[in-house]
Amino acid sequence: MKLVVLGSGTSVPHPQRASAAHWLETSGGSTLLLDIGASTVHRMAQENLDWVNLDAIWVSHFHLDHVGGLFPFLFGTKYAPATEARRKPLTVYGPHGLEKLFRAFDAAGDYDLLKQPFPVEIREVAPHAAFTMLPGLSAETFSTPHTTESLALKLIDTDNASLVFTSDTGYTDALATFAQNVSLFLLECSFFRDKPVESHLELAEAMRLAAQSGARRVMLSHLYPQWDDIDLAAEAKKLWSGETIEARDGLRVEI
Ligand SMILES: [Zn+2]
Ligand SMILES: [Zn+2]
Repeated sequence: MKLVVLGSGTSVPHPQRASAAHWLETSGGSTLLLDIGASTVHRMAQENLDWVNLDAIWVSHFHLDHVGGLFPFLFGTKYAPATEARRKPLTVYGPHGLEKLFRAFDAAGDYDLLKQPFPVEIREVAPHAAFTMLPGLSAETFSTPHTTESLALKLIDTDNASLVFTSDTGYTDALATFAQNVSLFLLECSFFRDKPVESHLELAEAMRLAAQSGARRVMLSHLYPQWDDIDLAAEAKKLWSGETIEARDGLRVEI
């Protein structure tokens, strides 16, 4: 799989870090967004990614730095000349409540966002669900201690490359079990230290999960401005000897 970091940041406006979004391409050539934060629509174009043919979108939870780009994206595909000829479906996956959120927003502005040149399907998935997300890409979910609906996602490609994407989460040992031996453990790490809330991670916790998981590599994303002047990889190395990658907007990684 190929991963492109579109947004390594949070809800806080930041000059280098857009809100949460990661582009994933499977070995079979299917494409998927992992979260679609408010900045995602134009970030895809900036990275020259084929947004016109995007196959699926994963929404981890309903905070706007993770789902705020969904409505602008569908507003864009509805009217963009580039999507006029598209007929293949787009599937939007997310937790229980996604459909309700979508309908409420859609109705509030009379947008009719499901009226597209191509079919759009909204699919709610339960915690601990196992399903096929795209051809050859199996998926599993895990309920995270962040919001009532928030889900982590595990993906396994046909070539056995695997990824766990926590999105926003507080600390629980069970996440390390969920991510056992994955090729890439994409963790949130909102804060360096002294986290102000329980519903996010700080570095020591992220590194404890990294060590327990046995993951081949770790990437830390969802970085608050507290990280701005800190050498993340060097600090991570002090706590875990494995490879920790600092997510940066525009970074491309092979999984
Ligand atoms: Zn967030
Ligand atoms: Zn959140």
